[in-house]
Amino acid sequence: MATVEIRNLVKQYPGAEKPAIPNANLTIDDQSFVVLVGPSGCGKSTLLRMIAGLEDISGGDLLIDGQRINNLSPKDRDIAMVFQNYALYPHMSVYENMAFGLKLRKFSKAEIDKRVRAAADILSMNDLLDRKPKAMSGGQRQRVAIGRAIVREPKVFLFDEPLSNLDAKLRVQMRVEIKRLHQRLNATMVYVTHDQVEAMTMGDKIVVMKAGVIQQADSPMNLYYDP
Ligand code: ADP
Ligand code: ADP
Repeated sequence: MATVEIRNLVKQYPGAEKPAIPNANLTIDDQSFVVLVGPSGCGKSTLLRMIAGLEDISGGDLLIDGQRINNLSPKDRDIAMVFQNYALYPHMSVYENMAFGLKLRKFSKAEIDKRVRAAADILSMNDLLDRKPKAMSGGQRQRVAIGRAIVREPKVFLFDEPLSNLDAKLRVQMRVEIKRLHQRLNATMVYVTHDQVEAMTMGDKIVVMKAGVIQQADSPMNLYYDP
């Protein structure tokens, strides 16, 4: 269970002329699938990284279930992020890649094993646990990256353009898989893309950004077209 509230959130990069995000307000409902969409450079990634704790907040508040998390380190947030470039450790096997975040957090070997196998099951990766990333396809690598998020059992999943490096066919397939995952895990998911079709097909709620400003936030049915 997790509602994410973004209250007057500001991001000013050091040395930048004006803020990348002047003042963002958004409520991400518990267990919803929210897509942030907009052209390159509009601030999607910045917003997502602030939620993850990977980027300092210049102003405003970030709350999960009413609790202010501005100053929590990424490790202590109940949030897992999936990156566009997968960010896998090349020298580690699939198993070790998925286990790593749990090892850091001092989970027992038994608990790690249980979670890794459960995630591998969900992602149909049981036969690939010994593989190294370089011996896998792009789609398989992205699945490992998703698995690494799943094993954390976070309240909130963040996806930063996770399918951009995949070919068109695989992209469509992975969209379906991620939506299925959402239904299965009952988690809150925030998904960033610059692809409008992806946004419209995946989002329960679509947040349209332009030049750091949230222009619209509504269901796909209720969005109006503003080129
Ligand atoms: P998007 O994810 O929508 O492509 P970003 O959040 O990456 O957009 O970028 C939003 C704005 O912030 C852009 O103008 C970008 O140039 C700027 N920006 C992003 N990261 C940095 C950074 N580390 N330092 C300075 N400016 C940045
Ligand atoms: P350590 O470095 O502490 O030995 P590992 O991650 O190498 O930790 O392995 C911990 C345990 O996880 C192993 O004892 C084994 O049971 C299991 N394990 C590791 N890799 C695999 C794998 N590829 N397939 C199945 N189980 C694995």
